[in-house]
Amino acid sequence: MTRLDPNIALMAKSQNAAHAVVVGAGIGGLAAAMRLGAKGYRVTVIDRLDRLGGRGSSISQNGHRFDLGPTIITVPQVFRELWKDCGRNFDSDVDLRLCNPFYEIRWEDGTKFRLFPDEKDMDDEIKRLFPSDFRGYQKFLKDSEARYTFGFEGMGRKPMNKLWDLVKELPGFALLRADRSVYAHAAKRVMDPRLRMALSFHPLFIGGDPVNVTSMYILVSHLERAFGVHYAMGGVQALADAMGHVIEGQAGNIRLGEEVDEIITQGRQIRGVKTKAGHIVSADLVVSNADPGFTYGQLLRKKQKSRWTDKRFKTARWSMGLFVWYFGTKGTAGMWSDVGHHTILNGPRYRGLLKDIFQKQHLADDMSIYLHRPSVTDPSVAPDGGDTFYALSPVPNLIGADPVDWSQQLEPYRKKLARFLERQAIPGFEKHLSASKIFTPDTFKTRYLSPHGAGFSLEPRIFQSAWFRPHNISEEFDGLYLVGAGTHPGAGVPSVVTSSEVLNQLVPAAIDWKKTYD
Ligand SMILES: Cc1cc2nc3c(=O)[nH]c(=O)nc-3n(C[C@H](O)[C@H](O)[C@H](O)COP(=O)(O)OP(=O)(O)OC[C@H]3O[C@@H](n4cnc5c(N)ncnc54)[C@H](O)[C@@H]3O)c2cc1C
Repeated sequence: MTRLDPNIALMAKSQNAAHAVVVGAGIGGLAAAMRLGAKGYRVTVIDRLDRLGGRGSSISQNGHRFDLGPTIITVPQVFRELWKDCGRNFDSDVDLRLCNPFYEIRWEDGTKFRLFPDEKDMDDEIKRLFPSDFRGYQKFLKDSEARYTFGFEGMGRKPMNKLWDLVKELPGFALLRADRSVYAHAAKRVMDPRLRMALSFHPLFIGGDPVNVTSMYILVSHLERAFGVHYAMGGVQALADAMGHVIEGQAGNIRLGEEVDEIITQGRQIRGVKTKAGHIVSADLVVSNADPGFTYGQLLRKKQKSRWTDKRFKTARWSMGLFVWYFGTKGTAGMWSDVGHHTILNGPRYRGLLKDIFQKQHLADDMSIYLHRPSVTDPSVAPDGGDTFYALSPVPNLIGADPVDWSQQLEPYRKKLARFLERQAIPGFEKHLSASKIFTPDTFKTRYLSPHGAGFSLEPRIFQSAWFRPHNISEEFDGLYLVGAGTHPGAGVPSVVTSSEVLNQLVPAAIDWKKTYD
């Protein structure tokens, strides 16, 4: 792994250093920029939004600050290593707090299941609620650890752009039964339908249908238990801003509020980007953190592609859409004391609801939601005496002949969601509302340029993972690299950071760039 060399850092400030343009300041784009800066590149980051972080950015309203996307930080060592690779100390720049409990899962029958960092507390909770499944739960954790070692530490941190990279891993895939789904694996180990849900819902946080994505993703149970569930004080926005400071400390240039309209090529060679305002920024290499579907389909629309064609993206399976209601309350200090920082509220159906969302593209009347209440941990998110929340409901994306018309459905769906919240978690909250903002799949399409309004880019199915996923080094154009949720290894904050680790292994040192490519 590259460590910051002071001579290289100096060279990064020189106008002669190779120039890298990063399109997009999501967490993956920022991590890529940090690593390129540490490698000696002159780096320019361009994002159309007015702040850093992409889906991890924030908005403010009436004194409430809303983290728009990720709220849970797992595998914090990927950040510590990123900072170390840039010659910095992560914990001096970002205040990560362990959540205890990690989160609570509720069902309509009144069951409340809490997951704890302490192994004994966790085991006691399983024995209390699911005594006959305790042995199966222990086996599940062992399975999860094996998949973490193979899938996250092994494949997830290595390039997967050559078919051979995948072929080498096939025996491991077969041994670990990667053909089985996350839900099928949980169902093999435990009997209680509530525990099956609790052990299998995690792919939803990276855009996958638990009933269809590969069981490799059961690795999340292990990584939560081994490394904890954390919250970044100040929200993920604070984390993204800290990444921005490192980039500026490396003499990198960050341009916000500018949209890249086109990646410029000469034959197969990348030459730079053109912004919507018509400015040309020339570059030796371009790293796109925009969705791969958007990168190949729009930013390179004038170019012939052999693999990543429009047809291929059209027939791909995309992650679900998200309906997210960000709302604030005032005068609610001390209310709803049983509602913690992270709560999952189940509706009456699990697999049926997943089928509606992923297979039938049908907006169901019932819902299961994730409720975020950061004001429990972080007073800076709300005015005194108030609370800041978001409620996230997975919904169909915009694919298909008859997608949900959110201009019609937004308010009826919000009302259903409000009734659900009143009943299940925060009775009377609507009387205290002091801020409200809603994102639908339409917002994801217009704000993040996300194809089909998908919440998490391509769905992480087995044939859309590893070598099958858009590669971190383009096979279509020389000097084009990709990072972020739609590339290998996939969505989620730790994975988009590891996509920058993979990038780091693929991009030559800046000193070698001119030699190699001129
Ligand atoms: C509601 C929600 C909750 C989530 N919760 C969690 C969680 O708790 N934990 C977790 O680990 N993960 C979570 N995730 C997933 C995680 O947030 C994402 O996978 C990750 O942040 C995506 O990062 P990225 O690097 O792919 O970039 P994105 O965040 O997708 O950012 C891409 C950036 O590129 C910019 N861009 C695109 N095209 C252009 C262009 N042409 N010109 C200029 N800029 C452009 C966009 O404006 C955007 O800022 C959540 C996601 C969502 C939506």
